[in-house]
Amino acid sequence: MIPRRTIGVDFDGVCHTYSLGWNGGEIYGELVPGTAHALRMLMGTFTMFIHTARSDLAAVATWLEAKIGIPCVADDPAPRREFWDITDVILVSRNKYPAVAYVDDRGVRFVGWEQALADIYAYTLTPCPTGRAEAVDQDPAKVLQEIATLAGVDDDNEVADPRAALIAVRDRLRNAKICEGGGWRPVRSPRSADDLEVK
Ligand SMILES: [Mg+2]
Repeated sequence: MIPRRTIGVDFDGVCHTYSLGWNGGEIYGELVPGTAHALRMLMGTFTMFIHTARSDLAAVATWLEAKIGIPCVADDPAPRREFWDITDVILVSRNKYPAVAYVDDRGVRFVGWEQALADIYAYTLTPCPTGRAEAVDQDPAKVLQEIATLAGVDDDNEVADPRAALIAVRDRLRNAKICEGGGWRPVRSPRSADDLEVK
């Protein structure tokens, strides 16, 4: 039998609505719409694990199994496994096992460091999605200038809104190769400088 490839899926913000943030660590929310269908579909092709920073893995596994109707099992506290290769059970773990893709609401896709920096600052210089006040101690205009210089991206336009400009730079770098030819294709690591050319 050909071993299946694995997909890792984040719990909070991807499977669990997490609309109030951590909120004392309770699983208080609902299933994110589409989760049950997506996980069931993926299980037809991949082995699956859910990753979470939560320490009560059994609570996550029980909640998820009740919501999606797919067997879920909590990982051992100190697992000796290096892979997750069981096809009909979703593992819930604090570990990030090898996978062909990770689905995470806080994930930053890495194409190259310039794009990753732009992505991180475009995200963190904008208000937190959960509405919590968070200190921002960087000047968006300076961050924009530094990243634009690093990436060799032209920012000679009048920058009235550095945050919007930073997001635009991020989008240009993120999509530089992915959208080439009009179709989406994944960019493989390691990247060459050419991968960051903005067409
Ligand atoms: Mg999350």
